[in-house]
Amino acid sequence: MRDRNPRLNINVAQLLKEPTGAVRWHDLSEEIRGIDHELRILAPLTGTVKMIRTADGIFITGRLHTVLQLECSRCLEPLVEPLHLEIEAEFHPSVNIQTGAKLPLVEPADRATTIDAQHILDLMEIVRQAIFLASPMHPLCREDCAGLCPQCGQYLNEGQCNCVADVVDPRLETLKQLL
Ligand SMILES: [Zn+2]
Ligand SMILES: [Zn+2]
Repeated sequence: MRDRNPRLNINVAQLLKEPTGAVRWHDLSEEIRGIDHELRILAPLTGTVKMIRTADGIFITGRLHTVLQLECSRCLEPLVEPLHLEIEAEFHPSVNIQTGAKLPLVEPADRATTIDAQHILDLMEIVRQAIFLASPMHPLCREDCAGLCPQCGQYLNEGQCNCVADVVDPRLETLKQLL
């Protein structure tokens, strides 16, 4: 199951051997389609992450970019949403880099930020969460999207439907008669 998910791997063996405060930069350009079945990813994940050796592990920050296909919350038409992700997380090793000794097992909640026994850090779960955080709650195909007619479902950006006319006409008729 795990292996069928895409991974965003960075080998941090070298950095783990360095003293606290050591810094590495890592450029990403990765295909992340399939990162989540709810997401339609249109572009590779790009950007740079900064990795800092801490006393306990590796602290990651990064500004990443991808493009998502969403649905307009008013008219349901597909729309293209460029996303800018801010990631920040501290990863912890599962084995001691010097001795190879296993470190205490991590809590399941911390698995996403655990460096595996081969010293591979997988950013995928952090990125997946960042995408959900960065996605707009009510995406719009355009600011003034008129949406769909609640009665007949007509796509109102391309013109009014007859339902509206039915509601408006009788009033206009009365007005004409009054005049
Ligand atoms: Zn719309
Ligand atoms: Zn209508």
